[in-house]
Amino acid sequence: MKSKKIVILTGAGISAESGIETFRAAGGLWENHRVEDVATPEGFAKDPELVHRFYNLRRAALKTVKPNAAHVALAKLEDGLKQNGGQLTLVTQNVDDLHERGGTKEVIHMHGILTSMLCGTCEHRWEYLEDASPHLSCPKCYVKNTSRPDIVWFGEMPYAMHVIEERLSDCDLFVSIGTSGAVYPAAGFVQMASSIGKATLELNLERSQGSHFFDESRLGAAGTLVPQWVDEVLKV
Ligand code: NAD
Repeated sequence: MKSKKIVILTGAGISAESGIETFRAAGGLWENHRVEDVATPEGFAKDPELVHRFYNLRRAALKTVKPNAAHVALAKLEDGLKQNGGQLTLVTQNVDDLHERGGTKEVIHMHGILTSMLCGTCEHRWEYLEDASPHLSCPKCYVKNTSRPDIVWFGEMPYAMHVIEERLSDCDLFVSIGTSGAVYPAAGFVQMASSIGKATLELNLERSQGSHFFDESRLGAAGTLVPQWVDEVLKV
């Protein structure tokens, strides 16, 4: 096995074949809403009702979708690397839970996850699977009206950046799957990895914005490309 420590970054493209619309497919709108209105702290402050309603719909929609072959293949890769003394670090920009439901055990949700709520007062996080409203109270500090979806909005610092940077500096290979390379800091991981001599690979439907930074780009649907690539990695 050539690569034993692999860091993977996934984006909305890996969930497209499961039926979750990507961001770019909607022409820069997210399910017909302006990003400023539903994915910024300012949007939440202006209209918390609308923002909760938006994420309630996304959360409820999770119950209607299933992981696809790409999610399942990455779980197989995690197992296979572990059995050979290696490690998969799966970092996702996605706020869906399809990697977990596809079987991957350790997933870093750098932009948060729909199935979690965050208290704006004491920063407690808790699993939340139902519809939320601005009146929801925090189960820890009991303060009402400040609970928000546990999503990293534009202008906020993504989660676990120090862990991701550590894993990037310790990996053999960095792979980007189904992401347009438009949202930073995730879009900068390829430069971070290649500047310290790591091999880099992109698997995407079309060339991403940072495509020229990768050693290799394979173009096609994740549901086909990812299982093929995982078999290659585990065979060698
Ligand atoms: P993006 O929509 O900007 O880009 C998606 C990329 O995936 C595009 O380059 C597209 O060509 C590619 N793609 C589409 N279908 C594909 C397929 N079947 N196989 C392989 N590639 C495919 O998404 P992004 O780069 O993740 O950035 C958008 C932001 O929006 C992220 O921060 C994310 O949090 C959020 N978002 C998340 C979800 C989700 O959780 N599923 C969905 C939409 C947006």
